Formats: sequence, structure tokens, C-alpha cells
Amino acid sequence: RNATPGNLEIARDAVLKPIEDVAAGMGVGPHLLEHYGRGVAKIDLAAIDELSSRPAAKYVVVSAITPTPLGEGKTTTTVGLGQGLTRIGRPATISVRQASMGPTLGIKGGAAGGGYSQVVPMERLNVHLTGDLHAVTAAHNQLAAMIDNELFRGNSLGIDPDAVTWRRVVDINDRALRDIVTGLGPRTNGPPRQTGFDITAASELMATLAMATSLRDLRERLGRIVIGYTRGSGEPVTAEQVRAAGAATVLLREALKPNLLQTIENTPALVHTGPFGNIATGNSSVVADLIGIRSGDYLVTEAGFGADMGAERFFNIKCRVSGLVPDVAVVVATVRALKLHSGRHTVVAGRPLPLEMLAENPDDVLAGADNLRKQISNIRRHGVTPVVAINAFGGDYPSEHEAIKQVAAEAGVRCAVSTHFFNGGAGAVELAEAVAEAAEEPSEFRHLYPVDAGLREKIETIATQIYGADGVEYTPTASRSLDQYERNGWGDLPICMAKTHLSLSADPTLRGAPSGWTLPVREVRASVGAGFIYPICGQMQTMPGLGSDPAATHIDINDDGETIGLF
Ligand code: ADP
Ligand code: MG
Repeated sequence: RNATPGNLEIARDAVLKPIEDVAAGMGVGPHLLEHYGRGVAKIDLAAIDELSSRPAAKYVVVSAITPTPLGEGKTTTTVGLGQGLTRIGRPATISVRQASMGPTLGIKGGAAGGGYSQVVPMERLNVHLTGDLHAVTAAHNQLAAMIDNELFRGNSLGIDPDAVTWRRVVDINDRALRDIVTGLGPRTNGPPRQTGFDITAASELMATLAMATSLRDLRERLGRIVIGYTRGSGEPVTAEQVRAAGAATVLLREALKPNLLQTIENTPALVHTGPFGNIATGNSSVVADLIGIRSGDYLVTEAGFGADMGAERFFNIKCRVSGLVPDVAVVVATVRALKLHSGRHTVVAGRPLPLEMLAENPDDVLAGADNLRKQISNIRRHGVTPVVAINAFGGDYPSEHEAIKQVAAEAGVRCAVSTHFFNGGAGAVELAEAVAEAAEEPSEFRHLYPVDAGLREKIETIATQIYGADGVEYTPTASRSLDQYERNGWGDLPICMAKTHLSLSADPTLRGAPSGWTLPVREVRASVGAGFIYPICGQMQTMPGLGSDPAATHIDINDDGETIGLF
């Protein structure tokens, strides 16, 4: 297994089908495709209507137990499962998020999956793709420029310069831009104002693109975006009022079309939008899934982070907008993460796993199983059938896989070991069969909370029922914002919790399924265009920095002009 070639080599050896053939397999005709070089095309949104008479696919969401900082393989499993389903004669489409270049050049590793379960061409996917993130960057900064222009041109809207919430964005990890002052220099440069940059994935425009159901819906959502508040009375000021929403829609109209790529085994792969998991939904777009749901027997989509975060937001925010009903939720579990949940080990991001964690030890796995049990019960709370996918790593022992199977069996959940990283779709056949079986059970999908419940009630429902908190504690600032938002008429927006993904609790160091704690809500913000309120629980970074050894230092071209060092 150590001889497994690198991700880039595997991806480069893949034999791509012409993308129009991949599309044809989904029922998407050539007239709906816009080509962006070899192996990449955008799909016109007219496909949603054109495919509507085709039967609906079973809808499968891939989620996970609470991950280690390394990631437990949701994207890789999404790809592997799509390939596995296709292999057992059930044509599948997968739907994943787009890569952000900040992490690509920073630390994280690719967004295309790994080993023999990857989306290709992965160099395109990870760098620029069809330019959607650049379009978001341009539209976001155009709106920022129009806000500053309004301040410079007499500020007839009465915007409080200190209460402008719309910052600027760039798709680079750059800590130096977190806090800046704009408008320095002569008076003609406008009034100086303290602001800063976020990474493009954190832009509300990105979250809005992910949520929009049509170009018209996108236009309306962009108009509703709140860019700041007025002096004195603190009334919200919208993008519509600064007359920037129309131009933003035009700058984003191509970016609203889903990108079609394929997996190494030619399974169709919709790769579209990349809202930041920290403060937004962390789920790929609604429009991609509205197309994918009519494109085969199965649509497999990934929800970022653990099931307490990504899947909860998928069920209660994304599915509420799309109207789609999930049939199965895959919970990816790994030996290493369950060992970590035992609380007997410590891992540090960017460092290799401690040696004692790699030794055969099913007892550690069992000791960490509370996290898996809680994530399973959270899925069931939404009326969806869970399936546990054991994402096999090279250093795992069969006894450790058995331990996970035992936990799943005790919970009455189907479970399969999947070796898709090493064997592609062939390694995911058992998982595909378990998912296909589970999908035949009737879905009793239900939302966790009625959307018209009060904001506090919704926050407390998520905190106590999904995270296992005893209750919620609000700072005075958070409390004031909640009251203000309800007065502004935003009380019936769903909640997108900004909480660490490294624990079910708000403390990233607490493992397993912590009890006896209170969720601290430090601050609350509103993404009115995207359509959710996000309470911030602890510190949330919206502009990552580079580490001591950025991925960018390893990336280059070789003598043949090929990219090297990309993962
Ligand atoms: P997630 O989507 O949950 O963040 P990814 O699928 O992106 O996780 O995987 C995280 C990293 O781990 C990637 O670099 C991927 O190549 C690697 N990885 C995933 N599964 C395996 C596996 N079974 N064996 C080895 N590496 C893996
Ligand atoms: Mg992923």
C-alpha cells in the first residue's frame, strides 16, 4: 500500500470521457453545455426545467463523525460511493463544493478527493476552475467600492461609516489583510475607514450563490444583502439601496451555472460553489442538486464538517430552500478519529499522528464511539436513514474496523468498510449496496425546528438536541443583535451556527460527546441575502493565514511543463 502513487499522478493517468458524453449520461443535452476547456463544462440552468419530467434520484448526503484536523475523507467517500453505485449498476451523480485557492496554496490538501476516488481534472478543479471564485471576488469588491463611493459622495443614505459590515475579499490566505484602513491619503481618496479582508469563500455572495434557485432568485437575494446600518437609528442598509445588486447579479450570472467534471471512473461530478464552513453552510449549491436529482438513480452530495455541523445545515437550511428530501445520510468514520475521541491522544494540525495512536487498539476505538453514536442519533432525529462508512486507511487493523461495525450494529445501523481510496469504485461496492438498501426505506425527513420559531428557540434547539449542550449563554451584544434582528423582520430565517467543527461542543479540545456544558454565543450576525442568521460561538477566523511551510512552496512546473507538488 505504501507504493500507492500520489494523488496528482493518479489523476493525471485517468482516462477522461468527453464531457458531452458524461452530460449525455445524465440526460443533459449538448445544447445545455458551455465548454471551459478539456473535461470541464458549465450547465445552463434551463436544465432544471428540461430534466423535470425524468424520475427523481435517491438523495444521499455524505457527512461524518467529528473530524480530526486532518479531515476524515468525506469528499473522497462521496467520490468513491458515486463510483461504487455506478459499478453496481445504479448510475450516480456526485455533487461537491468548489475549491478555494487559499487553502490549496496554504495547507489543507485538495478539494477533489484522494487516491483512486478523485474528481478530474484535479489541477483545474483546485486552481481557478471556471473562474467562479474570481467572479465572486469581483462582485463582492464592486459592492464594497460602491459603499465607499456612497460615503464619499455625500452619504445620502446616512450610512454610519463605523457600522459598515461589508468588508472586502480575496481568494488567498493573507493574514496581513485581516484588519486594514482604507481611504488614506488626500480627501479625494474618500473618508478613512477601518475594515479588512475575508477569504472569498467567506463572502456572503458565495453563500447566496449556493442558496439561489434561479437567476431571478439570485437577483432578489442580492438586493436583500445588508451592508451596514444607518447613523442614529441603526436601520439596516441593503445592497439594493446602494444600487449595486443589479451589477452584482450580472457579474455572477455565469458563476450561478454548475460546473460539470467527472471522477476518475467517469462518474458525473457537479462541482459548484464553496461557502465557508466556519460561518456559512459549507454545502454545495442548490441549483447543482436540482439538476443532479434528475440525472440518474442516485445523487450523492457532501455536507462539510461533522454531521452536527454540515448535515444539520444541509437538512435545515439547504433542503428547506431546495425542497429536496434526503433518503440516506452516510456518516464517514475513521479509526484515527474515533481513537482521538477516546480522549487518550492528542493530535496537532500539520504534524504526523503520534506513534502510539497508530498501534492496533480496538479498545481506543470503542472508547471514542460516543461521538459516532451521537452523530447517528442526530441523523435519525431528522427522519433520515444513516449508514456508517468506515473509510479505511493503510494503517488500520481489521480488529479496529470490527469495533466500529460492532458500534453500528448495536445502534441498528448498516455499516460497510470502504477501500475506495485504494481501489476506487470497486472498493466501495459494499458501501454502495448498503446505501442502496437503506434508500429503499421510506424517508421520514423532517426539519429540526419550525423556521418561524423565535431565533433563541431555534439556537437552543440546535445546541441542546444536536450538540448535547445543557443550554445557551448569550453575551449582551449577542442578545441585543437577536432582539434587533427580530425587530428587522429576520426572525424567521434559519440558523447557521458558527461553531468549531473539531468538537460537538464549542471547545475544540473536548472529544467524544461532551455533556455538562453551555454553548456561549459571543456575537450574532445576519446573512439576509443568503438567508440565515449566524451565531458565533467562540473565535471564528474568516481570513486564514499561511503556516510555516505553505503548500505553495512545493508547487512548481517540471521540465515537461506539467504542474508538480499539488498534493
Ligand atoms: P473531507 O472532505 O472530510 O475534508 P477529504 O476526502 O478531502 O476529507 O480527505 C482529507 C484528506 O485525507 C485528503 O488529502 C485525502 O486525500 C486524504 N484521505 C482521505 N481518505 C483517505 C484514505 N482512506 N487513506 C489515505 N488518505 C485519505
Ligand atoms: Mg471535503
